[in-house]
Amino acid sequence: MDFETARRRMVDRLAERGRIDRESTAEALRTVPRHAFVPPEHHESAYRDRPLPIGGGQTISAPHMVAIVTDLLSLDPGDRVLEIGTGCGYHAAVTAEALGQLPENDDERSEQGGVYSVEYDPNLADSARETLSEHGYNVRVRTGDGYEGWAEHAPYDRAYLTCAPDSLPVHVLEQLRPGGCLVGPVGRGRQTLVRAWRREDGGIDRETHGGVRFVPMRRGD
Ligand code: SAH
Repeated sequence: MDFETARRRMVDRLAERGRIDRESTAEALRTVPRHAFVPPEHHESAYRDRPLPIGGGQTISAPHMVAIVTDLLSLDPGDRVLEIGTGCGYHAAVTAEALGQLPENDDERSEQGGVYSVEYDPNLADSARETLSEHGYNVRVRTGDGYEGWAEHAPYDRAYLTCAPDSLPVHVLEQLRPGGCLVGPVGRGRQTLVRAWRREDGGIDRETHGGVRFVPMRRGD
């Protein structure tokens, strides 16, 4: 079976199992070539609903988890989105697709939305940058500590974590616009998927969305 057919079937199965709500999420998963983001030895398994190793002791989440987080973000075209944990860049590409593509021109882009991603591991950041641009995704990647967020491009409409901190990272919450939200796993060992909305008065409202398993968010040590 060719990759595109395998990908379509995977999305159909996820939709049948009620794992995808939004059409923009389904279409993004149908479009992004997940195999191209994982090491060659995993190309053949890229369209099973499984996490996969991506090097540096890290793993890419299973597609259903990418779908759940992308749905919870309830993205609008033109949103500015912060991702913490670029990994191989796959989820960032899905987010970029769900948002719609951005203009090439930097000035125009700064007026608009887009995906900004922070990755701790410099090797993963370099290879994600390469894969993303090879496939035409305009995602900006910064090597650094996600606990700090990325103040330069704040405020963000949306933010999400692909690694689990013990508690929600304060700087990322502060970099949300009022009315924006952060989606991510929280906890050590047992983790809960949380969506936190920043209120107009600066306070935070949280909802929980079940138990999940992500790699831990690393602390500079
Ligand atoms: N969304 C990614 C999945 C990445 S796995 C993908 O589609 O491939 C989680 C990533 O979070 C790893 O790459 C890990 O290096 C990164 N990470 C862990 N702690 C971090 C931190 N403090 N700041 C930024 N990234 C971090």
